[in-house]
Amino acid sequence: MAEKEDRIKILTERVLSRFEDYDINPKEVSKRLSLLINEFKVPEEEAVRTVTNYIIKELDISPSETFGESPIKSISELSRSGEWVTLKVKVFQLWDADSPNVSQVGLIGDPTGIIKFVTWAKSRKPEVEEGRSYIFRNVVTDSYGGRIQVNINRNSEIIEIDEDISLPPREIEVVGALVAIQQNSGFIQRCKTCNRVIKKGICAVHGKTESYDDLRIKGVLDDGMNFYEVILNEENLKSLTGIGVEEAREIVKESLDRESVLEELKKRLLGYYFRVRGSRGNRYFIVREIEAIDGKAVEFADSVLKEIESLKKEIGV
Ligand SMILES: [Zn+2]
Repeated sequence: MAEKEDRIKILTERVLSRFEDYDINPKEVSKRLSLLINEFKVPEEEAVRTVTNYIIKELDISPSETFGESPIKSISELSRSGEWVTLKVKVFQLWDADSPNVSQVGLIGDPTGIIKFVTWAKSRKPEVEEGRSYIFRNVVTDSYGGRIQVNINRNSEIIEIDEDISLPPREIEVVGALVAIQQNSGFIQRCKTCNRVIKKGICAVHGKTESYDDLRIKGVLDDGMNFYEVILNEENLKSLTGIGVEEAREIVKESLDRESVLEELKKRLLGYYFRVRGSRGNRYFIVREIEAIDGKAVEFADSVLKEIESLKKEIGV
């Protein structure tokens, strides 16, 4: 019996050592450990863990205060409230905080999703800025109006990072001119195993490999405000220029030069205007739909010219 009591005493010390800054009744801990181990025959380690978790919950403190870090999770993994987690996010949008208890509220995101965050005023955390990326360490999930959000409290830590965390793809539309076509564009060959673009039958990963023909353009679209790096695939190119893989083979048969396909594509694309719909990835604009709008632009210019002509006549210039 004394041996069992000694054991409980040792385990109680172990549990308490994690809560040195808190006022915890050792008798309460011993009682719970003894009940679990001696009555319910729970293994010691599990009993220690159970009692520790119970205290954390009772005190409403962060697990990190007692044993390190909350696990890093992606936003799509957050599904229940009361979870302590660490997130790597970009601040997507800040809203007006409509309560004096709240210092900041808005949306944060990572590649898997976007979630609301609330920073409590009493947490005294530094303010975050839209478009910047941070580690939100030891934040706690909460359910509000049926939706999961994360709360930043005094146990949390917000650290700005240099990395640019990307947000989930959102479809945007850009109208601009294709002002440049980059290398590795045109009638290309890809590795049959990994689909990488290969040169002279050699894949960077698989060495000498079987290949297949493909068409693509890596280009730069300029809408007057921004440059977008776009990738057009065979389907896009065929619909815009009439040149698909089959037509490209015909061109090569005649010219005996694969590069002549790129020359043909350049003639029909470079300098022209396009309306492009798709999503913005880390670097490239992923094109879902592209249409040439040159016809329309010409029509518009024509109608403007006609209008000017008739105006000129009217005022007798
Ligand atoms: Zn390969």
